[in-house]
Amino acid sequence: MPWPPEIRRTPSRFRNPIGKYKIHRGPACIHCGQCADLCPMGVHRRLGKKMLAPKDELCLGPSCASREFYCIDRCPQAALRMIINPNLQALKDYRWPADLLLSTWRQAETGEVPYADLEYRVGHSGGGFDRLRLRLPAQEDMSSSLSEKEEEVSTTIVLNRRADGRPQVRIGVPFYGGGMSFGSVSINTMLSRARAAEAWDTFTCTGEGGFPEPLRRYDDHMITQVATGLFGVREETIQRVRLVEFKYAQGAKPGLGGHLLGDKVTPAVARMREAVAGSSLFSPFPFHSVYSVEDHKKHIDWIKEVNTRCLVAVKVSTPTDVDMVAVGSYYAGAHIIHLDGSYGGTGAAPDIAKKNIAMPIEYAIPKVHRFLLEEGIRDQVTLIASGGIRTAYDIAKVIALGADGVVVGTADLVALECIRCRNCESGQGCPRGIATTDPELSNLVDVEWGSQRIINLYAAWRKQLVALLQLWGLKSIGELVGRTDLLMHLDYHRGELRDDDIRPFLLRGNGQRGL
Ligand code: SF4
Ligand code: SF4
Repeated sequence: MPWPPEIRRTPSRFRNPIGKYKIHRGPACIHCGQCADLCPMGVHRRLGKKMLAPKDELCLGPSCASREFYCIDRCPQAALRMIINPNLQALKDYRWPADLLLSTWRQAETGEVPYADLEYRVGHSGGGFDRLRLRLPAQEDMSSSLSEKEEEVSTTIVLNRRADGRPQVRIGVPFYGGGMSFGSVSINTMLSRARAAEAWDTFTCTGEGGFPEPLRRYDDHMITQVATGLFGVREETIQRVRLVEFKYAQGAKPGLGGHLLGDKVTPAVARMREAVAGSSLFSPFPFHSVYSVEDHKKHIDWIKEVNTRCLVAVKVSTPTDVDMVAVGSYYAGAHIIHLDGSYGGTGAAPDIAKKNIAMPIEYAIPKVHRFLLEEGIRDQVTLIASGGIRTAYDIAKVIALGADGVVVGTADLVALECIRCRNCESGQGCPRGIATTDPELSNLVDVEWGSQRIINLYAAWRKQLVALLQLWGLKSIGELVGRTDLLMHLDYHRGELRDDDIRPFLLRGNGQRGL
């Protein structure tokens, strides 16, 4: 399979995609077609002598005013008006505000950094990664700070650093897909993620719900999860994969386990989980067979015995003693320590848990990184972090804080046009056919379309990561690990905050790219 995979333009699957702006063409229009001739984005189209309704999801917004093709100013009849799409009012997720949804959709469509009027770096939460900024050269110095050629910058990370005779397993991008089970999402969503993981030579995870047969051909890119409910855990599937993940806890629900509501437990889901259709399924907290590092080691030894070539990842939340947990996991034999923070998860995670239990992930990562360094074992373990990672900037921040790579989840779903309505857990009613077990709704996502959208999003992220590394004069993503000097926290650096937009750098020499 060619690497990097090909980017193919993959527009929205809906007839009326959501855009940031609305273009109104008033009754004064004489259908002269000038706007159609001018606009290179294809907003205006003419059919015969009539103008069609504007495709305003393609509109660049007010920043277009500085361009010679700005239709609003050039219309001879002054018949055009631009407003912010009022429908965006309905998209009120502070971690995934409308701009971030739209810019992620845009990246999933084009594989490029989105155009000027879309925020593609941070959300509106006011905390977490949204309170961190990257320390970049000033805009005017960006071109001169170019020190490495794009093709000479490596984004590869190694998942086994223990030199224990098991394969090293390298992934070409510093991220892989987090656990989403059959039942929590549809088989078409799982297949889309798996195909994208294969294309980028990385992984995606089955979550706790078994390993549906259609995923078999992606074995080399699947992580099978062993979680506290042991739903769908089979030695036969553990033997087939290169990476097995123990899920001890979920960052969004530390100490609470997980649950799948009965509505989503269809006969197919029940069969996979060896459960009864229609009944809610609960995963307890914690593993009732693990109360010490020794018990934990027994678990890992079991997996290593069942599959003599696989790597073992251990996913934990971020209690205040997470550094001790990480060291214990390393000595128990884990190859990957996966810290899961609280900013991810669906609406099913109660606020009391999200906001009051465990440490924020941006504090847990450097704590664990430093502790592993002090223990002298940092270079023998791969540290991965997850929980609310939405953008290439979030990935860079997490790595600069001390992780080797990240796990992404919701962003994959947003690439499939998730609108963050948070109905994922409420029965089978995902309006976008993503987090559903209803066969008819599942068919809203075509696997070819879905995988290409995720491939494109990853391509856009990788371009941004390479650009960031180039701007910092780094040759590999590994050189970014623990570089907290490249970060600013808004609590302390508000005065010296610079614009960390890399678009001018990415657009150099190509005025159209990224529009
Ligand atoms: S340029 Fe103005 S008048 Fe001409 S087709 Fe467009 S909106 Fe109508
Ligand atoms: S669109 Fe579907 S996947 Fe996205 S939040 Fe709503 S229910 Fe969940």
